[in-house]
Amino acid sequence: MNILLMGLPGAGKGTQSEMIANDYQLIHIATGDIFREAIKNETELGLLAKSYTDAGNLVPDDVTNSLVKERLAQEDVKQAGFMLDGYPRTINQAEALDKNLKDLNESLDAVIYIDVEKEILKDRLSGRFICRECGATYHKLYKPPQVENKCDVCGAHDFYQREDDKPEKVSHRIELQMDSIRPILDYYQEAGILHQVNGEESIEFVYRNIQSILGDPFNE
Ligand code: ADP
Ligand code: ADP
Ligand code: ZN
Repeated sequence: MNILLMGLPGAGKGTQSEMIANDYQLIHIATGDIFREAIKNETELGLLAKSYTDAGNLVPDDVTNSLVKERLAQEDVKQAGFMLDGYPRTINQAEALDKNLKDLNESLDAVIYIDVEKEILKDRLSGRFICRECGATYHKLYKPPQVENKCDVCGAHDFYQREDDKPEKVSHRIELQMDSIRPILDYYQEAGILHQVNGEESIEFVYRNIQSILGDPFNE
């Protein structure tokens, strides 16, 4: 199964994709994570991406497209199927993805759009924090670690706030992506594979709705 998880910054893509990847055994490909990892390791890609991600702007399409193209062609992805998170974010990327999938003899089974309004997104992003060790995502009110200051997943005690989640950067990012996401949703609507879920519900409720779209993971 190959799926896309779409949504504005803070919609819950990362949170939901952890559960989906686990239950459906799909390879999780998050372009934002790939850029952050490259920036941390100061690779060529990282140096190129940094100024864009720091400012909350999109990394240029040619860079992002070739990165995803390479990853999709790898054997593990072809075997297990993929869940793309945060890609495509422009029509150019959606068209490049179509072409790359065609070349690989693959197709998309479902596009899931997690719909959340802007004020709620701002509230979520401003309270988001992340485990420095394993990347697990938390929220100070809506998803605190079970034991205070200890990561549920790996047990580490070191957390950080993303540079682009600082309040002065958040609005710009949301507004920019609001404009670019609409035509992509229309594109997949026309292709007949778009599903929308109400992302303003609880994390568990949203996940149940996604499961009802994808089918029972334990019943294949
Ligand atoms: P969020 O979790 O807030 O939705 P991401 O982690 O997906 O954000 O992305 C963080 C940053 O990485 C974006 O602001 C952008 O600079 C860059 N980025 C991620 N995905 C893409 C993409 N498909 N095209 C261009 N830039 C991207
Ligand atoms: P995205 O990857 O789309 O940017 P995240 O999954 O990182 O979004 O979620 C953004 C923030 O909102 C995180 O702090 C997360 O813990 C929190 N969050 C995610 N889903 C929900 C939800 N349904 N209700 C409340 N908070 C949520
Ligand atoms: Zn952790």
